[in-house]
This record gives sequence, C-alpha cells and structure tokens, in this order.
Amino acid sequence: MRIAFFGGTFDPPHRGHIAIARAAITRLALDQVLVAPVATQPLKGGSGHSSFADRLAMVQLAVAGEPGLTASSIDAPLLGGKPNYTFDTLQRLSHLLAPPDVLFCLLGADSFLTIKQWHQSAELLLFCDFIVAGRPGFSLQQITSAFPKGVENRGERREAAFTRFSLANRSGQSAELFLLPDLDQDISATEIRAALAEGSEQQTVLAPAVAEYIRSHALYRPEASSSFTA
Ligand code: ATP
Repeated sequence: MRIAFFGGTFDPPHRGHIAIARAAITRLALDQVLVAPVATQPLKGGSGHSSFADRLAMVQLAVAGEPGLTASSIDAPLLGGKPNYTFDTLQRLSHLLAPPDVLFCLLGADSFLTIKQWHQSAELLLFCDFIVAGRPGFSLQQITSAFPKGVENRGERREAAFTRFSLANRSGQSAELFLLPDLDQDISATEIRAALAEGSEQQTVLAPAVAEYIRSHALYRPEASSSFTA
C-alpha cells in the first residue's frame, strides 16, 4: 500500500483539500490518503473555530464517495489537550503498516514553509517521503529555502507529474520530497469562514453535504449579541 497522511485543521474541509488529495493519488500512484483533522495544532494552539468532532464529521462528509480518501481520527484530542505533533503521528502510523507499505506525508506549500518550527523537523522530513502541494503565491525557491538545518537537498529533478527533491542528512538518512507545482487551488478555509459569517453560502467551494452540516449546526456564524435585560 502507498498511503499518505494528510493532516490539517480542516475548518472547514473544502474543494481545494479534496483536489490536492486527488492530485497526490494520481501523480504518486497512492492507494489511500488519510484526511486527518488535528485536535490541537501545535503552532496554532487550541483556538480553532469548530470542535474536533465537528471537523471530523465534516471531513467524513467531504471524502464520502471520493475513491482513495478516508477520514482519520488519528490526530484526535490527547490527554490534557497536549499538541498533536506530526512526527509522533507518523511514527504511530508507521507502526500500523506492514514492511512493503510506503508512508507519505501530504501538505500544502504554506504549511511546508513553517516546517522549521515543527517538532523534530529535521528528523520528521527524513522519516518518510513528503508531498508538497503548490499553492498560489508560493514559489519553488521558497520551498527549497524552508528545509530545516541538517537536511541537505542533494538534487532536484523535474518530472512530468512533479519536481522530485532528494533529501539527506550527514548520517546517510534520506527521503524524497515531491512538489506538485501547478495545482493552483485558490481556496482558503479562512476566507470561507469569513464569507460564511457574512451569510454567503459558499456552494462552489464546499461539498453540498458539508455546506448542509455547517447550516444545520450553525457553524461560523458571528457571535449572537447578548440582549440580556434585568
Ligand atoms: P487557512 O486558509 O485557514 O489557512 P487551510 O485550508 O490552509 O486554512 P488547513 O485546513 O490546515 O488550512 O489545511 C490543511 C492542509 O491543506 C495544509 O497542509 C494546507 O497547506 C493545505 N491546503 C489548504 N488549502 C490549500 C490550497 N488551496 N492549496 C494547497 N494546499 C492547501
């Protein structure tokens, strides 16, 4: 099995996320992408807009009927609200896989640019192969300058479906990074939340079932102003 972990806030999951996962499946011949909402994103803290349960439910709706995409609760809340580190999650996942299986980590270019701040970043980047989805406004040069200290780029090769980077450290540990440069998914969850808060339906960027979940659970509405009178 060739399987990718695709973590994120998914607040809410949108068509851009699905397009990226689909492109990764096609271009890297993946069997499965685990779409995993994170309970406590270490860099963003716990100040998400929707609960983990709502985000997981929306991801389940977003991936329904999408071949190869599975919602995963592997990044469910930890005891005491501890942060969910991707390094720990990938280690747990790798223990669940059998020797011929290949594990990938899929993320967008904007997330990858923060990788130096991630827990165990140099070890993480060489723990498995990475797939980085290009995002409007992010360049190849930015990606290469984001590699953590101790990880060297031993060469890059442009292929039809991706640009392949060979990464290694001085101890000879190595991994590959596949950049999918031309996805151009100009969709952002932050903008979707802002539009929903203003009453826009966001039909074109959300799966209908996700839009319905947001409506029926009254998510992303502006705080109702309190009208308490004594
Ligand atoms: P926000 O707009 O609030 O930052 P987001 O959709 O970017 O939201 P996440 O839900 O955490 O944030 O995204 C999950 C993963 O999908 C991240 O790795 C992110 O980089 C990637 N991603 C999200 N949208 C896009 C996009 N339009 N193009 C490429 N990658 C994306």
